[in-house]
Amino acid sequence: MPFTANRSFKAKPRLVVTSKDIHYIANDGSKIIDGSSGLWCCNAGHNRDAIVDAIQKQAAELDYAPSFQFGHPKAFTLAARLAALAPGDLDHVFFANSGSEAVDTALKIALAYWNVQGKGSKSRLIGRERGYHGVGFGGTAVGGMVANRKLYGNLLAGVDHLRHTYNRDEQAFSRGEPEWGADLADDLERLVGLHDASTIAAVIVEPMAGSTGALPPPKGYLKRLREICDKHGILLIFDEVITGFGRLGASFAAERFGVVPDIMTFAKGVTSGTVPMGGCFVRRGIYEAFMQGGPAHAVELTHGYTYSAHPLACAAALATLDIYRDEGLFERARALEPVWADAIHALKGEPNVEDIRSIGLVGAIDLKPRDGAPGTRGYEALDRAFHEHGLMFRTAGDTIALSPPLIISESQIGEIADKLKAVIRAVA
Ligand code: PMP
Repeated sequence: MPFTANRSFKAKPRLVVTSKDIHYIANDGSKIIDGSSGLWCCNAGHNRDAIVDAIQKQAAELDYAPSFQFGHPKAFTLAARLAALAPGDLDHVFFANSGSEAVDTALKIALAYWNVQGKGSKSRLIGRERGYHGVGFGGTAVGGMVANRKLYGNLLAGVDHLRHTYNRDEQAFSRGEPEWGADLADDLERLVGLHDASTIAAVIVEPMAGSTGALPPPKGYLKRLREICDKHGILLIFDEVITGFGRLGASFAAERFGVVPDIMTFAKGVTSGTVPMGGCFVRRGIYEAFMQGGPAHAVELTHGYTYSAHPLACAAALATLDIYRDEGLFERARALEPVWADAIHALKGEPNVEDIRSIGLVGAIDLKPRDGAPGTRGYEALDRAFHEHGLMFRTAGDTIALSPPLIISESQIGEIADKLKAVIRAVA
């Protein structure tokens, strides 16, 4: 199983069989409150009737359309709907089927963009320590998680990493963006000094690092990164696979932080997790760079997937976007942010709690690792939460990461906090 402690799982599996709104039912019949929106994806909650209907209708109407040289209208309707949600002139969309594919697509578009303009020397890619960009070779190479990298050889050549932005001494128990750390963006200047901007294609970061324990960006950090990219002609890519579709109380983190990247990935929340879909937005200038020169029958971008803009995924996404709009779920997440933050931060002082972070409807609780056995307390928390307390969350080592569906109520937030307290005490 993917990213799973397989031996422990085999001995005592955690299986869910049905889902509705913010709950799962496990195979033993117990009710589990979903504190992580599945894997950060079911933002509209589970088994929403309108999404189920849309998928069923689509399967009966047009099951598949070839994505090379042919298309289907819903793909264009969806692209336009998405572009209307994205900030600035991020108004063209390329579809893929997952976050990993979205990231590799974004990196390849960045490289191709410079190539089609005769600037193929701009080929270095820069990621960041503690970044997660999926598991393709591109995403693994720009990612900054040692466990995900160390088994896979040399990965891509010409990749560097900015330092990560977390510093517990300076940032502990901060709500939203920590005050400390904007200057860390100057790391990019250091890499420009080392390699020269004429060799650098793009920088990719998660606006909020998710998979290494939810690290909100320091105040001003992303703006500074944008300025340095502009100064040197480097493309800025935001990986919004987690942060898109309301997670931070705005359509995208780019909107919340007031910084428009050149390329922006999405996945997960686009279909509320129901049908696999991912993709990336590009700014108009990038789209236009590909659309000129050469004969009209020439293929402009030699990249794509058999299932790009799959009709079932498009139908699911359109129904999901309707729910987000009609129920005002992004605004709801923003309005609930203080309630959520209060509930999560109230766990300060519980045994082994070393730091708590929150932003939007995201929370992270760092537990003190057991001596000589990092990760065991986190794993025990995840397992006990599911089997004994009816709560699902993600862990990154000994960090508990939370991201409930955006339909969550104030009383359900309280319920999650109570269960967390019980779990943290149980593993102490
Ligand atoms: N990028 C980010 C920021 C992610 O959080 C993830 C998944 N958690 C991915 C990429 C990869 O997405 P997928 O698992 O759909 O390939």
